[in-house]
Amino acid sequence: MKTLHYLLFAVLVLQTRLAFSASSEQIPLFDAHMHYNAEARATISPPRVVALWRELGIRGVIATSRPNQGTLDLIAQEPKDMRIVPFLRPYRVQPDRYDWFASTAIESLIETELTRGIYRGIGEFHLFGKDAESPLVVKIARLAKARDLWLHAHSDEDAVERLFKHAPGVKMIWAHTGMSTSLDKVEALFDKYPTLVGELSYRGDLEQDGQLNLRWRKLFLKYPDRFVVGTDTWVTPRWAEVPDIAAFYRRMLSSLPRETAEKIAYRNGMAMFGLTPN
Ligand SMILES: [Zn+2]
Repeated sequence: MKTLHYLLFAVLVLQTRLAFSASSEQIPLFDAHMHYNAEARATISPPRVVALWRELGIRGVIATSRPNQGTLDLIAQEPKDMRIVPFLRPYRVQPDRYDWFASTAIESLIETELTRGIYRGIGEFHLFGKDAESPLVVKIARLAKARDLWLHAHSDEDAVERLFKHAPGVKMIWAHTGMSTSLDKVEALFDKYPTLVGELSYRGDLEQDGQLNLRWRKLFLKYPDRFVVGTDTWVTPRWAEVPDIAAFYRRMLSSLPRETAEKIAYRNGMAMFGLTPN
C-alpha cells in the first residue's frame, strides 16, 4: 500500500511538472532587442542563428545589426516558422554609437538604407539628454512618425521626452526601459506617452528574491500591452547566454496571469507589427 501511495505521489509530481512546463516554459518568445553584429557574424552563421531561435521557441525577432548586412543575411534565411522584423541600425562601426547623431556620414547611411523599403523601425540607437536636439535626430523622429516607423532608443528619460517633443505620437521602443530609470518614473512616462513600449533586457531589478519584483508586476498588470522582452546580443559572448536569458524571462513571467505573460513574451511584439504567428 505504501508503495502504491508512493507511486501515485510520483505520478502526481510528474503531472504537475508537465503541467508547469506546458503552462510557462513553452510560451513562445519575441526577441525585440537583438544584434547580429560583424563580430558575431564571424563566429555564428545565419542558419545557426535561426536554428538557435527555433530551438529556444523564439518565434519572432526585431533584427538589427552593425553594419546592416547582418540583418539582410538573417532575412535571406526566410524561415517559414518565425517572423523577422528588420530595423535600420544607424551604425557602421562600434564607435558610431557615441556621435552618430552629429554625423553627415550616418545621415547618408540612413537615407541610403531607407531606399530598400524593408525597415519597420530605426535603432537601436544610443541617445542621451541634449544630444536629442541635433538636427539629424529631429529629422529621424519626424520621419519615423511620417512613415509609421518605430524608434528603438537606448536613452535616458530626458532624450525620450525630447524625441516625443520632436514628433508627438511617434512609436518608440525604450531599450532596457531606461536601464536604471525608477519604476515610478517609468510609470509616469507610460501615462504621458501612450506610444511608448518598454523593452526589458538588462533590467536586473526584474528579479527580487528569486521572483518577479512586485513593483514590476504591478506595472505589467497596468500596461500588459506595452512591454516586450529582448536578449540584446550586443557583444559576441552574449550569444552563449541567449538560452539562459530566454529561460529567465519565462521564469519571471510565469507568476503572471497566462494571458499577460503571453503578451509580454510574444504577442505584443507580433501585434506591434501587425503580424500573426506563422
Ligand atoms: Zn542593444
